[in-house]
Amino acid sequence: MGELLADHTTLRLGGPADRFLTHTDPAVWLDVARVVQREQIGPFVLGGGSNTLADDAGYPGPVIRMATRGIAVRSLADGFVEVVAQAGEPLSALVAFTISEGLSGIEYLGGIPGTTGAAPVQNTGAYGQQISDTLASITAYDWHLGRTVELRFSGCDFGYRSSAFKTGPGRWTLLDVVLRLTRSPYAAPITYQHLADALDVRLGIRPPLAEAGQGVLYDRRNRGLSLPQAGPDSRQAGSVFLNPLVTPAQAATVRAAGGPVHLDQSGHLRASAGWLLERAGYYPGAPVAPGVFCSTGRTLTLTARNAATASSFDTALRTLASQVLAATTVHLTPEPVRPGRCVDVGFRTEQL
Ligand SMILES: Cc1cc2nc3c(=O)[nH]c(=O)nc-3n(C[C@H](O)[C@H](O)[C@H](O)COP(=O)(O)OP(=O)(O)OC[C@H]3O[C@@H](n4cnc5c(N)ncnc54)[C@H](O)[C@@H]3O)c2cc1C
Repeated sequence: MGELLADHTTLRLGGPADRFLTHTDPAVWLDVARVVQREQIGPFVLGGGSNTLADDAGYPGPVIRMATRGIAVRSLADGFVEVVAQAGEPLSALVAFTISEGLSGIEYLGGIPGTTGAAPVQNTGAYGQQISDTLASITAYDWHLGRTVELRFSGCDFGYRSSAFKTGPGRWTLLDVVLRLTRSPYAAPITYQHLADALDVRLGIRPPLAEAGQGVLYDRRNRGLSLPQAGPDSRQAGSVFLNPLVTPAQAATVRAAGGPVHLDQSGHLRASAGWLLERAGYYPGAPVAPGVFCSTGRTLTLTARNAATASSFDTALRTLASQVLAATTVHLTPEPVRPGRCVDVGFRTEQL
């Protein structure tokens, strides 16, 4: 049997990959690509597997796990600093590195599991900061063109937890990411009340970088936003739904019931997925499907326990979404990625 995806995802679910490659050396990427190009099915690219719900049947094509490490820094003439990180570099290690170097721009992204190469895919973000805020460019392999390309920010189509890489999965494999950071001893202004409370400061304050980083880790642990090594919440993929778009009428109903609604960066109204789940009757620790529970720390995270399968996890997602729809008329969209959906998307061996 092939390598189990369950061994490479934080939910620890998922059957075998038809072929499994671990990519560790940037110098041999083209050899890896050549091997994969001979396959009939396009690759599924895996980072830390912390936003992936792999099927019980596994993946019928090649899976490439990005495990390249390395961070390089170069000062620019305009005073900014460019940081180049390999795709497999853990995002939390990159954040810790930038804080220790006195570089501001991604200090609020600490404690998020996963790799740097995956961060632009879903435009990973927290506490009002998202990777696209500081992203300068990306080196990627384009499976359509069969060569390495450099992508600038403007071509990445970033939005709330989305990007061109997410809406067109399968076309690009991100090899390294270039961020443009500011040399400063201070973090960006705090815009989240939970974080302000954790640091015992007012909103709008710019705390010292190291304090900001520690405050984030403390707040994430306190609110069930970190990945425990063991215990009932140790198998999870973080938030399972995006905060949904709502119409003005739905927003008014949510507000009237005491729920939060905010404007996203594109000026669209969004409600809180966690609040909507609680409105539909769910709560931390609630059972949802065989082996699948809301985490003990927060309703918006589902955890897999002994009896869980990818199929029961999927049932849990559908159950929650339909209960929320019935209770509030709002549609929820799952956040974790399903590898099977990348099959047949844009992989054209004849063009390579
Ligand atoms: C406890 C916990 C807390 C979390 N908190 C947050 C949070 O605060 N904010 C947030 O945004 N997310 C959060 N997440 C979700 C997840 O950690 C992030 O989305 C993270 O960026 C995913 O990284 P990964 O390497 O694990 O991605 P994976 O799960 O391995 O992959 C996710 C997607 O990216 C693609 N991908 C991965 N690497 C590459 C690459 N090099 N090139 C092309 N495509 C690639 C995959 O094909 C897949 O489509 C959390 C998850 C957990 C478990």
